Amino acid sequence: MSLISKLWKLDPFECASGYLGNLPGNELYLHNFIDGQFSEQHPPEKWLDSHNPGPARYWPRHLRVVNRAVEAASRVFPLWSKSSRQERSDVLLRIASIIQEKRDTFAVWESLDQGKTLLRARVEVDRAISNFRYFATYILHEEGSVRFVDGQPSTLTYEHRSPVGVFALISPWNMPLYLLTWKIAPCIAFGCTGVAKPSEVTSITSYLLGEVFRQAKLPPGVMNIIFGDGPGTGSALVKSPRVRGVSFTGGTKTGIRIRQDTVEDIGKHLSLELGGKNPTLIFDDVDFAEAVPLAATAAFENNGQICLCGSRIYVHADIYERFCSEFVEYVQKHYRCGDTVGPVVSKVHYDKIRTYLLQAQTENVTFLLSEVPTKTSGNGYWITPTVLSNVDDQSIIQREEIFGPVVTISVFGTEEEAIELANDNPNGLASILLTKDVSRMRRVAERIDAGLVWVNCWLVRELGTAFGGMKASGTGREGGAHSRDVFTNLRTIHVR
Ligand code: NAD
Repeated sequence: MSLISKLWKLDPFECASGYLGNLPGNELYLHNFIDGQFSEQHPPEKWLDSHNPGPARYWPRHLRVVNRAVEAASRVFPLWSKSSRQERSDVLLRIASIIQEKRDTFAVWESLDQGKTLLRARVEVDRAISNFRYFATYILHEEGSVRFVDGQPSTLTYEHRSPVGVFALISPWNMPLYLLTWKIAPCIAFGCTGVAKPSEVTSITSYLLGEVFRQAKLPPGVMNIIFGDGPGTGSALVKSPRVRGVSFTGGTKTGIRIRQDTVEDIGKHLSLELGGKNPTLIFDDVDFAEAVPLAATAAFENNGQICLCGSRIYVHADIYERFCSEFVEYVQKHYRCGDTVGPVVSKVHYDKIRTYLLQAQTENVTFLLSEVPTKTSGNGYWITPTVLSNVDDQSIIQREEIFGPVVTISVFGTEEEAIELANDNPNGLASILLTKDVSRMRRVAERIDAGLVWVNCWLVRELGTAFGGMKASGTGREGGAHSRDVFTNLRTIHVR
Protein backbone atom coordinates (compact mmCIF):
# COMPACT_ATOMS: atom_id res chain seq x y z
CA MET A 1 0.00 0.00 0.00
CA SER A 2 1.39 3.43 -0.90
CA LEU A 3 2.16 5.92 1.86
CA ILE A 4 -0.63 8.24 0.80
CA SER A 5 -3.18 5.40 1.04
CA LYS A 6 -1.91 4.52 4.52
CA LEU A 7 -2.07 8.08 5.85
CA TRP A 8 -5.45 8.58 4.21
CA LYS A 9 -6.89 5.73 6.27
CA LEU A 10 -5.42 6.48 9.71
CA ASP A 11 -8.11 8.41 11.48
CA PRO A 12 -8.14 8.36 15.23
CA PHE A 13 -5.32 10.22 16.93
CA GLU A 14 -3.99 7.16 18.83
CA CYS A 15 -3.93 5.12 15.66
CA ALA A 16 -1.97 7.77 13.75
CA SER A 17 0.55 8.40 16.52
CA GLY A 18 0.90 4.62 17.04
CA TYR A 19 1.67 4.27 13.34
CA LEU A 20 4.32 6.97 13.60
CA GLY A 21 5.89 5.30 16.62
CA ASN A 22 6.32 2.04 14.66
CA LEU A 23 7.77 3.47 11.48
CA PRO A 24 10.95 1.70 10.41
CA GLY A 25 13.82 4.14 11.02
CA ASN A 26 11.20 6.62 12.30
CA GLU A 27 11.01 8.10 8.83
CA LEU A 28 8.14 9.12 6.67
CA TYR A 29 8.83 10.04 3.05
CA LEU A 30 6.54 12.64 1.50
CA HIS A 31 6.53 12.90 -2.27
CA ASN A 32 5.74 15.88 -4.42
CA PHE A 33 2.41 16.03 -6.16
CA ILE A 34 3.14 17.11 -9.72
CA ASP A 35 0.96 16.90 -12.81
CA GLY A 36 -1.70 14.96 -10.93
CA GLN A 37 0.61 12.31 -9.52
CA PHE A 38 2.78 11.63 -6.50
CA SER A 39 6.31 11.33 -7.78
CA GLU A 40 7.59 8.34 -5.83
CA GLN A 41 10.52 7.51 -8.08
CA HIS A 42 12.98 10.23 -7.12
CA PRO A 43 16.43 9.57 -5.68
CA PRO A 44 16.74 9.88 -1.91
CA GLU A 45 19.79 12.16 -1.70
CA LYS A 46 17.66 15.30 -1.81
CA TRP A 47 15.59 14.50 1.27
CA LEU A 48 15.10 17.13 3.93
CA ASP A 49 14.33 16.60 7.64
CA SER A 50 11.49 17.86 9.78
CA HIS A 51 10.39 16.85 13.30
CA ASN A 52 7.25 16.24 15.26
CA PRO A 53 7.04 18.76 18.13
CA GLY A 54 5.38 16.33 20.54
CA PRO A 55 6.81 13.28 22.28
CA ALA A 56 5.99 10.79 19.48
CA ARG A 57 8.85 11.68 17.17
CA TYR A 58 8.94 11.06 13.48
CA TRP A 59 10.77 12.60 10.61
CA PRO A 60 8.84 13.46 7.50
CA ARG A 61 11.33 13.89 4.73
CA HIS A 62 10.69 16.11 1.79
CA LEU A 63 11.92 16.15 -1.70
CA ARG A 64 12.55 19.29 -3.71
CA VAL A 65 11.67 19.73 -7.31
CA VAL A 66 10.76 23.09 -8.75
CA ASN A 67 11.15 23.01 -12.50
CA ARG A 68 8.97 20.00 -13.16
CA ALA A 69 6.17 21.52 -11.11
CA VAL A 70 6.39 24.94 -12.81
CA GLU A 71 6.47 23.22 -16.16
CA ALA A 72 3.32 21.20 -15.38
CA ALA A 73 1.50 24.34 -14.22
CA SER A 74 2.63 26.30 -17.29
CA ARG A 75 1.57 23.56 -19.70
CA VAL A 76 -2.00 23.39 -18.43
CA PHE A 77 -2.47 27.16 -17.93
CA PRO A 78 -3.74 27.97 -21.46
CA LEU A 79 -6.47 25.38 -21.06
CA TRP A 80 -7.41 26.05 -17.44
CA SER A 81 -7.49 29.82 -17.91
CA LYS A 82 -10.18 29.31 -20.55
CA SER A 83 -12.25 26.83 -18.54
CA SER A 84 -15.74 27.93 -17.60
CA ARG A 85 -16.52 29.37 -14.18
CA GLN A 86 -18.98 26.55 -13.65
CA GLU A 87 -16.27 23.94 -14.26
CA ARG A 88 -13.91 25.63 -11.79
CA SER A 89 -16.69 26.04 -9.26
CA ASP A 90 -17.69 22.36 -9.51
CA VAL A 91 -14.18 21.10 -8.94
CA LEU A 92 -13.68 23.43 -5.96
CA LEU A 93 -16.91 22.18 -4.40
CA ARG A 94 -15.80 18.57 -4.92
CA ILE A 95 -12.51 19.39 -3.17
CA ALA A 96 -14.42 20.94 -0.26
CA SER A 97 -16.66 17.88 0.08
CA ILE A 98 -13.76 15.43 0.12
CA ILE A 99 -11.96 17.38 2.84
CA GLN A 100 -15.24 17.53 4.74
CA GLU A 101 -15.51 13.72 4.57
CA LYS A 102 -11.93 13.35 5.79
CA ARG A 103 -12.18 16.14 8.37
CA ASP A 104 -10.89 14.00 11.24
CA THR A 105 -7.96 12.62 9.26
CA PHE A 106 -6.85 16.12 8.36
CA ALA A 107 -7.31 17.33 11.92
CA VAL A 108 -5.32 14.45 13.40
CA TRP A 109 -2.36 14.94 11.09
CA GLU A 110 -2.41 18.71 11.51
CA SER A 111 -2.37 18.29 15.26
CA LEU A 112 0.49 15.79 15.23
CA ASP A 113 2.55 17.75 12.73
CA GLN A 114 2.19 21.25 14.18
CA GLY A 115 1.57 20.55 17.85
CA LYS A 116 -1.82 22.25 17.95
CA THR A 117 -4.69 20.72 19.92
CA LEU A 118 -7.18 18.56 18.03
CA LEU A 119 -9.89 21.08 18.83
CA ARG A 120 -7.92 23.87 17.21
CA ALA A 121 -6.98 21.65 14.26
CA ARG A 122 -10.66 20.91 13.58
CA VAL A 123 -11.47 24.62 13.48
CA GLU A 124 -8.73 25.17 10.92
CA VAL A 125 -9.83 22.23 8.75
CA ASP A 126 -13.33 23.69 8.74
CA ARG A 127 -11.91 27.02 7.66
CA ALA A 128 -9.99 25.33 4.86
CA ILE A 129 -13.26 23.81 3.65
CA SER A 130 -14.86 27.29 3.75
CA ASN A 131 -12.01 28.68 1.65
CA PHE A 132 -12.89 26.30 -1.20
CA ARG A 133 -16.65 26.78 -0.83
CA TYR A 134 -16.36 30.56 -0.69
CA PHE A 135 -14.34 30.98 -3.90
CA ALA A 136 -16.33 28.23 -5.66
CA THR A 137 -19.45 30.37 -5.32
CA TYR A 138 -17.79 33.78 -5.51
CA ILE A 139 -16.87 33.29 -9.15
CA LEU A 140 -20.44 32.44 -10.09
CA HIS A 141 -21.70 35.77 -8.78
CA GLU A 142 -18.88 38.01 -9.82
CA GLU A 143 -19.65 41.54 -10.97
CA GLY A 144 -17.60 43.80 -13.20
CA SER A 145 -17.55 47.48 -13.89
CA VAL A 146 -19.03 49.28 -16.92
CA ARG A 147 -18.90 53.05 -17.38
CA PHE A 148 -20.28 55.49 -19.91
CA VAL A 149 -17.92 58.10 -21.28
CA ASP A 150 -19.33 61.59 -20.77
CA GLY A 151 -19.97 63.34 -24.09
CA GLN A 152 -19.50 60.14 -26.11
CA PRO A 153 -22.81 58.33 -25.76
CA SER A 154 -21.85 55.62 -28.21
CA THR A 155 -18.70 54.62 -26.31
CA LEU A 156 -18.78 51.94 -23.67
CA THR A 157 -15.92 51.41 -21.27
CA TYR A 158 -15.60 48.24 -19.30
CA GLU A 159 -13.13 46.38 -17.14
CA HIS A 160 -12.04 42.96 -18.18
CA ARG A 161 -10.02 40.53 -16.09
CA SER A 162 -7.97 37.55 -17.13
CA PRO A 163 -6.02 35.02 -15.07
CA VAL A 164 -2.41 36.07 -14.45
CA GLY A 165 -0.66 32.74 -15.04
CA VAL A 166 1.34 30.37 -12.86
CA PHE A 167 1.52 31.30 -9.18
CA ALA A 168 3.93 30.39 -6.40
CA LEU A 169 1.86 29.85 -3.26
CA ILE A 170 4.04 29.74 -0.16
CA SER A 171 2.81 29.33 3.39
CA PRO A 172 4.16 29.15 6.96
CA TRP A 173 3.88 26.39 9.57
CA ASN A 174 1.41 27.83 12.06
CA MET A 175 -1.89 27.06 10.25
CA PRO A 176 -0.63 24.80 7.49
CA LEU A 177 -3.78 23.66 5.71
CA TYR A 178 -5.88 26.73 6.35
CA LEU A 179 -3.33 29.24 5.08
CA LEU A 180 -2.29 27.25 2.03
CA THR A 181 -5.89 26.68 0.94
CA TRP A 182 -6.55 30.41 1.40
CA LYS A 183 -4.20 30.79 -1.58
CA ILE A 184 -4.96 27.62 -3.52
CA ALA A 185 -8.74 28.15 -3.65
CA PRO A 186 -8.70 31.64 -5.27
CA CYS A 187 -5.79 30.65 -7.52
CA ILE A 188 -7.82 27.82 -9.02
CA ALA A 189 -11.09 29.79 -8.94
CA PHE A 190 -9.74 32.74 -10.94
CA GLY A 191 -8.28 30.48 -13.61
CA CYS A 192 -4.63 30.50 -12.60
CA THR A 193 -2.49 27.44 -12.07
CA GLY A 194 0.02 27.05 -9.31
CA VAL A 195 2.81 25.44 -7.42
CA ALA A 196 2.10 25.34 -3.71
CA LYS A 197 4.93 25.00 -1.22
CA PRO A 198 3.96 24.48 2.41
CA SER A 199 6.43 25.10 5.19
CA GLU A 200 9.10 22.42 5.43
CA VAL A 201 8.22 22.21 9.14
CA THR A 202 4.61 21.10 8.61
CA SER A 203 3.84 19.37 5.32
CA ILE A 204 1.61 16.39 5.98
CA THR A 205 -1.82 17.91 5.38
CA SER A 206 -0.56 19.41 2.11
CA TYR A 207 0.54 15.92 1.13
CA LEU A 208 -3.00 14.70 1.83
CA LEU A 209 -4.35 17.59 -0.21
CA GLY A 210 -2.65 16.12 -3.30
CA GLU A 211 -4.82 13.03 -2.85
CA VAL A 212 -7.91 15.26 -2.53
CA PHE A 213 -7.06 16.94 -5.85
CA ARG A 214 -6.63 13.55 -7.48
CA GLN A 215 -9.97 12.27 -6.20
CA ALA A 216 -11.74 15.53 -7.09
CA LYS A 217 -10.45 15.17 -10.66
CA LEU A 218 -8.73 18.52 -10.70
CA PRO A 219 -7.04 18.46 -14.12
CA PRO A 220 -3.39 17.39 -13.79
CA GLY A 221 -0.96 20.27 -13.41
CA VAL A 222 -3.52 22.87 -12.29
CA MET A 223 -2.25 22.67 -8.71
CA ASN A 224 1.07 21.08 -7.88
CA ILE A 225 2.40 20.65 -4.37
CA ILE A 226 6.10 20.51 -3.70
CA PHE A 227 7.99 20.04 -0.46
CA GLY A 228 11.24 21.70 0.38
CA ASP A 229 13.00 24.42 2.32
CA GLY A 230 12.79 28.18 1.82
CA PRO A 231 16.24 29.23 0.65
CA GLY A 232 16.41 26.31 -1.83
CA THR A 233 12.96 25.35 -3.06
CA GLY A 234 10.95 28.45 -2.12
CA SER A 235 13.50 30.84 -3.51
CA ALA A 236 13.90 28.95 -6.81
CA LEU A 237 10.14 28.95 -7.15
CA VAL A 238 9.59 32.69 -6.68
CA LYS A 239 12.52 33.51 -8.97
CA SER A 240 11.30 31.32 -11.82
CA PRO A 241 10.51 33.58 -14.81
CA ARG A 242 7.55 31.37 -15.67
CA VAL A 243 6.00 32.09 -12.28
CA ARG A 244 3.89 35.22 -12.86
CA GLY A 245 2.74 35.83 -9.33
CA VAL A 246 3.65 35.08 -5.73
CA SER A 247 1.21 34.84 -2.87
CA PHE A 248 3.31 34.51 0.24
CA THR A 249 2.48 34.27 3.94
CA GLY A 250 5.34 34.12 6.41
CA GLY A 251 7.90 36.17 8.28
CA THR A 252 8.78 39.77 7.42
CA LYS A 253 12.45 38.96 6.72
CA THR A 254 11.42 36.34 4.18
CA GLY A 255 8.94 38.80 2.63
CA ILE A 256 11.76 41.31 2.14
CA ARG A 257 13.95 38.60 0.61
CA ILE A 258 11.18 37.68 -1.85
CA ARG A 259 10.70 41.31 -2.78
CA GLN A 260 14.43 41.64 -3.44
CA ASP A 261 14.49 38.40 -5.43
CA THR A 262 11.67 39.52 -7.72
CA VAL A 263 12.46 43.22 -8.02
CA GLU A 264 13.65 42.99 -11.64
CA ASP A 265 10.52 41.16 -12.75
CA ILE A 266 8.27 44.17 -12.40
CA GLY A 267 5.11 42.52 -13.76
CA LYS A 268 5.16 39.66 -11.28
CA HIS A 269 2.18 39.99 -8.94
CA LEU A 270 3.22 40.04 -5.31
CA SER A 271 1.05 39.61 -2.26
CA LEU A 272 2.99 39.49 1.01
CA GLU A 273 1.21 38.66 4.27
CA LEU A 274 3.83 39.02 6.99
CA GLY A 275 4.38 39.07 10.74
CA GLY A 276 2.64 41.01 13.49
CA LYS A 277 3.16 42.26 17.03
CA ASN A 278 -0.41 43.15 17.76
CA PRO A 279 -1.69 45.41 20.54
CA THR A 280 -4.75 44.70 22.69
CA LEU A 281 -6.09 47.93 24.21
CA ILE A 282 -8.28 47.51 27.28
CA PHE A 283 -10.18 50.57 28.51
CA ASP A 284 -11.56 51.08 32.01
CA ASP A 285 -15.22 50.60 31.06
CA VAL A 286 -14.97 46.89 30.12
CA ASP A 287 -16.70 43.97 31.82
CA PHE A 288 -13.94 41.84 33.32
CA ALA A 289 -15.91 38.65 32.74
CA GLU A 290 -15.70 39.31 29.00
CA ALA A 291 -12.41 41.20 28.66
CA VAL A 292 -10.20 38.73 30.52
CA PRO A 293 -11.12 35.60 28.49
CA LEU A 294 -11.04 37.56 25.24
CA ALA A 295 -7.58 38.99 25.87
CA ALA A 296 -6.34 35.54 26.96
CA THR A 297 -7.71 33.82 23.86
CA ALA A 298 -6.20 36.49 21.64
CA ALA A 299 -2.84 36.01 23.33
CA PHE A 300 -2.66 32.23 23.66
CA GLU A 301 -4.76 30.62 20.93
CA ASN A 302 -2.62 28.01 19.17
CA ASN A 303 0.05 28.71 21.76
CA GLY A 304 0.45 32.30 20.58
CA GLN A 305 1.52 30.97 17.18
CA ILE A 306 -0.97 32.98 15.13
CA CYS A 307 0.19 36.11 13.33
CA LEU A 308 -2.94 37.87 14.64
CA CYS A 309 -2.37 37.13 18.33
CA GLY A 310 -2.58 40.10 20.68
CA SER A 311 0.86 39.79 22.26
CA ARG A 312 1.10 43.34 23.68
CA ILE A 313 -1.69 44.09 26.13
CA TYR A 314 -2.17 47.72 27.24
CA VAL A 315 -4.54 48.34 30.15
CA HIS A 316 -5.98 51.60 31.49
CA ALA A 317 -4.24 52.61 34.75
CA ASP A 318 -7.47 52.51 36.81
CA ILE A 319 -7.97 48.78 36.22
CA TYR A 320 -4.37 47.67 35.64
CA GLU A 321 -3.74 45.86 38.96
CA ARG A 322 -7.08 44.08 38.96
CA PHE A 323 -6.72 43.10 35.30
CA CYS A 324 -3.24 41.63 35.83
CA SER A 325 -4.33 39.50 38.73
CA GLU A 326 -7.55 38.21 37.08
CA PHE A 327 -5.76 37.62 33.79
CA VAL A 328 -3.01 35.53 35.40
CA GLU A 329 -5.57 33.53 37.37
CA TYR A 330 -7.59 32.87 34.22
CA VAL A 331 -4.61 31.81 32.11
CA GLN A 332 -3.33 29.52 34.85
CA LYS A 333 -6.71 27.82 35.07
CA HIS A 334 -7.50 27.48 31.36
CA TYR A 335 -4.16 27.01 29.59
CA ARG A 336 -2.54 23.75 30.68
CA CYS A 337 0.31 22.09 28.78
CA GLY A 338 -0.61 18.67 27.43
CA ASP A 339 -4.32 19.39 27.86
CA THR A 340 -5.51 22.69 26.39
CA VAL A 341 -2.03 23.69 25.18
CA GLY A 342 0.24 21.73 22.84
CA PRO A 343 4.00 21.92 22.35
CA VAL A 344 5.47 24.70 20.21
CA VAL A 345 6.22 23.68 16.66
CA SER A 346 9.94 22.84 16.63
CA LYS A 347 13.23 22.86 18.49
CA VAL A 348 14.38 25.90 16.52
CA HIS A 349 11.24 27.78 17.51
CA TYR A 350 11.48 26.62 21.13
CA ASP A 351 15.04 27.94 21.31
CA LYS A 352 13.97 31.25 19.76
CA ILE A 353 11.21 31.81 22.32
CA ARG A 354 13.52 30.77 25.15
CA THR A 355 16.13 33.28 24.01
CA TYR A 356 13.55 36.09 24.30
CA LEU A 357 12.64 34.93 27.80
CA LEU A 358 16.30 34.81 28.84
CA GLN A 359 16.62 38.36 27.52
CA ALA A 360 13.57 39.36 29.59
CA GLN A 361 15.30 37.96 32.65
CA THR A 362 18.41 40.06 32.03
CA GLU A 363 16.19 43.17 31.65
CA ASN A 364 14.57 42.54 35.05
CA VAL A 365 11.16 42.10 33.51
CA THR A 366 8.54 40.77 35.96
CA PHE A 367 7.33 37.23 35.21
CA LEU A 368 3.72 37.42 36.43
CA LEU A 369 3.19 33.86 35.26
CA SER A 370 5.68 31.11 34.44
CA GLU A 371 9.45 31.40 34.08
CA VAL A 372 12.20 30.73 31.55
CA PRO A 373 11.75 27.08 30.50
CA THR A 374 14.57 24.70 31.25
CA LYS A 375 16.28 23.07 28.28
CA THR A 376 13.98 20.57 26.58
CA SER A 377 14.46 16.98 27.74
CA GLY A 378 13.54 15.47 24.38
CA ASN A 379 9.95 14.97 25.47
CA GLY A 380 8.50 17.62 23.18
CA TYR A 381 8.91 21.37 23.01
CA TRP A 382 6.71 22.62 25.82
CA ILE A 383 6.52 26.24 26.94
CA THR A 384 4.05 27.20 29.66
CA PRO A 385 2.00 30.32 28.81
CA THR A 386 4.03 33.24 30.10
CA VAL A 387 2.80 36.66 31.24
CA LEU A 388 5.32 39.51 31.56
CA SER A 389 5.04 43.03 32.97
CA ASN A 390 7.42 45.96 33.53
CA VAL A 391 8.75 45.62 29.99
CA ASP A 392 10.50 48.66 28.52
CA ASP A 393 8.71 50.01 25.42
CA GLN A 394 11.96 49.88 23.47
CA SER A 395 12.91 46.35 24.54
CA ILE A 396 13.03 43.69 21.82
CA ILE A 397 10.51 41.76 23.93
CA GLN A 398 8.02 44.53 23.22
CA ARG A 399 9.07 45.34 19.65
CA GLU A 400 9.75 41.99 17.97
CA GLU A 401 7.35 39.20 17.14
CA ILE A 402 8.03 36.28 19.51
CA PHE A 403 5.27 34.13 17.97
CA GLY A 404 4.81 31.95 21.03
CA PRO A 405 2.91 31.74 24.33
CA VAL A 406 4.33 34.99 25.69
CA VAL A 407 2.31 38.15 26.36
CA THR A 408 3.30 41.47 27.91
CA ILE A 409 1.00 43.71 29.96
CA SER A 410 1.65 47.46 30.16
CA VAL A 411 -0.28 50.44 31.44
CA PHE A 412 -1.67 53.56 29.74
CA GLY A 413 -3.27 56.72 31.10
CA THR A 414 -5.17 58.43 28.29
CA GLU A 415 -6.79 57.40 25.02
CA GLU A 416 -4.13 59.34 23.15
CA GLU A 417 -1.37 57.47 24.95
CA ALA A 418 -3.05 54.13 24.19
CA ILE A 419 -3.05 54.92 20.45
CA GLU A 420 0.55 56.07 20.57
CA LEU A 421 1.68 52.90 22.33
CA ALA A 422 -0.30 50.70 19.96
CA ASN A 423 1.29 52.36 16.94
CA ASP A 424 4.80 52.44 18.38
CA ASN A 425 5.87 49.27 16.58
CA PRO A 426 7.27 48.47 13.13
CA ASN A 427 4.42 46.02 12.47
CA GLY A 428 0.81 46.81 11.61
CA LEU A 429 -1.09 43.61 11.09
CA ALA A 430 -3.92 43.46 13.63
CA SER A 431 -5.19 45.03 16.84
CA ILE A 432 -7.86 44.45 19.43
CA LEU A 433 -9.84 47.17 21.15
CA LEU A 434 -11.96 46.47 24.22
CA THR A 435 -14.35 49.20 25.31
CA LYS A 436 -18.07 49.81 25.68
CA ASP A 437 -17.90 53.40 24.49
CA VAL A 438 -19.25 53.45 20.93
CA SER A 439 -17.73 56.78 19.95
CA ARG A 440 -14.34 55.63 21.25
CA MET A 441 -14.64 52.44 19.21
CA ARG A 442 -14.56 54.50 16.03
CA ARG A 443 -12.23 57.21 17.29
CA VAL A 444 -9.54 54.74 18.28
CA ALA A 445 -10.09 51.99 15.70
CA GLU A 446 -9.73 54.43 12.80
CA ARG A 447 -6.36 55.66 14.07
CA ILE A 448 -4.62 52.36 14.78
CA ASP A 449 -1.97 51.38 12.24
CA ALA A 450 -3.29 47.91 11.50
CA GLY A 451 -4.89 46.20 8.53
CA LEU A 452 -7.37 44.49 10.87
CA VAL A 453 -9.00 45.98 13.95
CA TRP A 454 -11.25 43.85 16.13
CA VAL A 455 -13.50 45.72 18.54
CA ASN A 456 -14.76 43.57 21.44
CA CYS A 457 -13.98 40.42 19.45
CA TRP A 458 -11.04 38.62 17.89
CA LEU A 459 -10.37 36.42 14.86
CA VAL A 460 -13.81 37.09 13.36
CA ARG A 461 -13.42 36.60 9.61
CA GLU A 462 -15.70 37.28 6.70
CA LEU A 463 -13.98 35.92 3.62
CA GLY A 464 -15.00 38.78 1.35
CA THR A 465 -13.30 41.42 3.48
CA ALA A 466 -9.71 42.52 3.05
CA PHE A 467 -7.06 40.60 4.93
CA GLY A 468 -3.54 41.97 5.24
CA GLY A 469 -1.29 44.32 7.12
CA MET A 470 0.20 47.81 7.13
CA LYS A 471 3.83 48.85 7.68
CA ALA A 472 6.21 45.87 8.02
CA SER A 473 3.29 43.43 8.11
CA GLY A 474 3.05 43.26 4.36
CA THR A 475 1.72 44.56 1.14
CA GLY A 476 -1.43 43.66 -0.73
CA ARG A 477 -4.75 42.36 0.57
CA GLU A 478 -6.48 39.02 0.05
CA GLY A 479 -10.11 37.96 0.42
CA GLY A 480 -13.05 38.22 -2.01
CA ALA A 481 -12.45 40.88 -4.65
CA HIS A 482 -9.01 41.57 -3.17
CA SER A 483 -7.94 38.01 -4.01
CA ARG A 484 -9.30 38.59 -7.49
CA ASP A 485 -6.93 41.57 -7.79
CA VAL A 486 -4.03 39.29 -6.86
CA PHE A 487 -4.85 36.50 -9.31
CA THR A 488 -6.14 38.45 -12.32
CA ASN A 489 -4.84 41.06 -14.73
CA LEU A 490 -7.11 44.01 -15.28
CA ARG A 491 -7.52 45.76 -18.61
CA THR A 492 -9.85 48.61 -19.45
CA ILE A 493 -11.56 48.30 -22.84
CA HIS A 494 -13.19 51.19 -24.67
CA VAL A 495 -15.69 50.12 -27.34
CA ARG A 496 -17.20 52.64 -29.71
P1 NAD B 1 9.10 31.92 7.20
O1 NAD B 1 9.09 33.25 6.56
O2 NAD B 1 10.35 31.43 7.79
O3 NAD B 1 8.63 30.79 6.17
C1 NAD B 1 7.42 30.87 5.48
C2 NAD B 1 7.52 30.09 4.18
O4 NAD B 1 8.46 30.74 3.34
C3 NAD B 1 8.01 28.66 4.34
O5 NAD B 1 7.30 27.84 3.46
C4 NAD B 1 9.47 28.76 3.94
O6 NAD B 1 9.99 27.55 3.45
C5 NAD B 1 9.40 29.80 2.84
N1 NAD B 1 10.64 30.53 2.57
C6 NAD B 1 11.65 30.80 3.44
N2 NAD B 1 12.62 31.50 2.80
C7 NAD B 1 12.20 31.70 1.52
C8 NAD B 1 12.74 32.37 0.39
N3 NAD B 1 13.93 32.97 0.42
N4 NAD B 1 12.02 32.37 -0.75
C9 NAD B 1 10.81 31.78 -0.81
N5 NAD B 1 10.25 31.12 0.24
C10 NAD B 1 10.93 31.08 1.39
O7 NAD B 1 7.93 31.96 8.29
P2 NAD B 1 7.52 30.81 9.30
O8 NAD B 1 8.52 30.76 10.40
O9 NAD B 1 7.18 29.58 8.56
O10 NAD B 1 6.12 31.40 9.84
C11 NAD B 1 6.00 32.30 10.87
C12 NAD B 1 5.79 33.71 10.35
O11 NAD B 1 4.65 33.76 9.49
C13 NAD B 1 5.49 34.70 11.47
O12 NAD B 1 6.22 35.85 11.25
C14 NAD B 1 4.01 34.95 11.32
O13 NAD B 1 3.57 36.20 11.82
C15 NAD B 1 3.85 34.87 9.85
N6 NAD B 1 2.44 34.67 9.49
C16 NAD B 1 1.78 35.69 8.88
C17 NAD B 1 0.44 35.55 8.57
C18 NAD B 1 -0.35 36.65 7.90
O14 NAD B 1 -1.42 36.37 7.38
N7 NAD B 1 0.12 37.87 7.88
C19 NAD B 1 -0.22 34.33 8.86
C20 NAD B 1 0.50 33.33 9.48
C21 NAD B 1 1.84 33.50 9.78
